[in-house]
Amino acid sequence: MQKVSFFKSIHVKLVLIYVLLIVIALQIIGIYFSKELEDSLKGNFQDSILQRMELVQYSIREEMLKESNETNSTSTTTPESGIDAILREFSTDDINEIRVIDRRNRILATSDRDNQSMVGQRSNDDIVRTAMSVEALQDNIALDKQTMPMQRVWVLAAPITDTVGPNSEVLGAIYIESNIEKVYEQMSEINRIFAAGIAVSLAITIILGILVARTITRPISDMRKQAQAMSKGNFSRKVRVYGTDEIGQLAIAFNHLTNRLQESQSTTEAERRKLASVLSNMTDGVIATDRKGKIILINEPALSLLHDTRESTLNRPIASVLGLDQEYSFEDLIHMKESVSLDFSTSDAPYILRANFSVIQKETGFVNGLITVLHDITEQEKIDMERREFVANVSHELRTPLTTMRSYLEALADGAWRDENIAPTFLNVTQTETERMIRLVNDLLQLSKMDSQEYELNFEFVEFNKFFTHIIDRFEMSKSKNVEFLRLLPETSYFVDVDADKLTQVMDNIISNSLKYSPDGGNIRFGVTVHENMLRVMISDDGMGIPKENVGRIFDRFYRVDRARARSMGGSGLGLAIAREMIEAHGGRIWAESEEGVGTTVFFTLPFELDGAGDWE
Ligand code: ATP
Ligand code: MG
Repeated sequence: MQKVSFFKSIHVKLVLIYVLLIVIALQIIGIYFSKELEDSLKGNFQDSILQRMELVQYSIREEMLKESNETNSTSTTTPESGIDAILREFSTDDINEIRVIDRRNRILATSDRDNQSMVGQRSNDDIVRTAMSVEALQDNIALDKQTMPMQRVWVLAAPITDTVGPNSEVLGAIYIESNIEKVYEQMSEINRIFAAGIAVSLAITIILGILVARTITRPISDMRKQAQAMSKGNFSRKVRVYGTDEIGQLAIAFNHLTNRLQESQSTTEAERRKLASVLSNMTDGVIATDRKGKIILINEPALSLLHDTRESTLNRPIASVLGLDQEYSFEDLIHMKESVSLDFSTSDAPYILRANFSVIQKETGFVNGLITVLHDITEQEKIDMERREFVANVSHELRTPLTTMRSYLEALADGAWRDENIAPTFLNVTQTETERMIRLVNDLLQLSKMDSQEYELNFEFVEFNKFFTHIIDRFEMSKSKNVEFLRLLPETSYFVDVDADKLTQVMDNIISNSLKYSPDGGNIRFGVTVHENMLRVMISDDGMGIPKENVGRIFDRFYRVDRARARSMGGSGLGLAIAREMIEAHGGRIWAESEEGVGTTVFFTLPFELDGAGDWE
């Protein structure tokens, strides 16, 4: 968080507002106060001058009237000296000059001692002429040009009339120049004192304002610091509560908020950890994206399923990570209802994943992201494929004998039954086909029992050489081909714990295969050896052999190297599949080695003991 500069801080703003308010208030008070003071001081001054002027006016009139009466009789005193005496009597400090002017505008007397020369001259003051002509008091404030610096003076001119009333006659005028500057000086003195008072009180209020603003801004800046600490994940800090006012309440609420935030943060953290452990411990791969399809979360199983690393997948588009960017856009994946198979199979091994998509959506329908769940379905796909293949094989194997039988039976029904030469042959064929089908169905039943572990093995101890010799003898007696049997059996007795019937079936199948594929005059070798604590049985022929790439597959169900040839020899391809199940149930292993045109050798192993006592002793 950035630092608040001093001049932008609330503290300064508060103090500024406070000071400005006080300054404005004092200004208004000051203006009002000085106006009132001016009016009142000026009024008082002017009243006192006017009062004195009235007295002077009265005395002068009396003096003038007396003079006019005396002009008729003879008198010793001049009127001017009488007026002079009056003026001397009335002249005071605050009056600069009093002048008396007669009706012909001639100056009769002046109180100004230094300027007596003007007596007898004409007055050229406009204000005096106006006062005489309108017979009313005239006044104005003028600047006295004789003083330095120039001072303000209040100039008054009043007419002197013989009587008081409408028909009075103007005798002259009186002119007074009073020193009003003193009033203004007094006023500015008071204003100075006032201004000084304002300055002092302002200084005090600024200091007080700073202190008061501090009480508000300190808790606020404290809370600011705490908010900064909280944003960095530090919840241990607490705001100091200074009082119970609104800011104090705010501080309490702030501390409460801190606690709640801490609690909810730890809950979120716990939830996050839980989610992370669920995601990493589940076997399915989970991938989450943001709303643009970029991967934001991917768990370990997903990484191992995709054979990828977290660094190379995070922030990449999901479609390209899943290898779907050619077929689908992110929009398509959002609207994908079914799962999608991802085929990563190579020529060596199949590898198929299934991806299910679900959209993270708000109630408003706004898409927030996509969750993808991955499963490895390689095994399942393989089983499904095997099952489909198996059903196809079974149907095919059954259809062939059935169609053969149908055509023979149709021929018989069409009248062939009457022909004594053909009928038995036809019937014989249907019988053979039926037996083949029965064999097939029995084989299938046996395999299915093995698959569902429903069979039981009747174990018994047999001496293997004797058992083997017995089986070889049986084949030697009934063999239809000119094939030599070579027995490479050891002297030692080996005892095996086996189900003799089942093992006979296995060996019958291996030996009959060898006979089937051996040419006339070939050899079949039978051997028994011991390898790695196991008895290893070998049946080897000089037959046509099996191509290298197919050797491993002859133990698969229904597998025949050359279908047409094998079927003509009566095989369905289940014999070795049953043999493998049986040998493995006995704890052994079966495999074949072959070379085309040279011969085939089938091996199988069995656990053995050297004496036949078994468990009894
Ligand atoms: P079934 O045994 O069910 O009557 P089958 O003999 O054809 O039929 P398997 O015994 O399972 O079936 O053998 C599978 C295939 O392996 C045979 O069809 C044959 O092509 C091949 N095969 C088995 N043994 C030999 C062998 N000794 N020489 C050459 N090919 C063989
Ligand atoms: Mg066979």
